[in-house]
Amino acid sequence: MNQELINKLIDIAKEMSQKNFCCQHSKFTVGTALLTESGNIYGGFNIENDGIQSICGERSAFVKALTAGEKKFKAIVVVGKNLSDPKFTKTLPCGYCRQFMSEYAHPDFIIYAYDEIENKIYTYTLKELLPESFKL
Ligand SMILES: [Zn+2]
Repeated sequence: MNQELINKLIDIAKEMSQKNFCCQHSKFTVGTALLTESGNIYGGFNIENDGIQSICGERSAFVKALTAGEKKFKAIVVVGKNLSDPKFTKTLPCGYCRQFMSEYAHPDFIIYAYDEIENKIYTYTLKELLPESFKL
């Protein structure tokens, strides 16, 4: 994937993170930008509630895309930071999101984690982050 597109995804993920008004418990905001095979981009952020079943930024974006009829996914950018921090730190999908994504995305689906402090983009495939996923 070309750097220009990755940068666009990072900008969208950061924008989603900045819009997040639903991380009242963790005070940690996660923004995501999910790219589909068709070229559409769906942004998401973590949505917390008083129960224990909050929604992560990754699943937030996937739910938007899936409900829009998307079925094939290419990559996702994840950014995250404490609300009080000025810069984003490396943030990777939690175990639940890794399993969720494994059921809707190809094992070669790409996950980009952006670290603004190091000015570095970490790149993983889904199969690297979840090599032996649960399957029915
Ligand atoms: Zn998660």
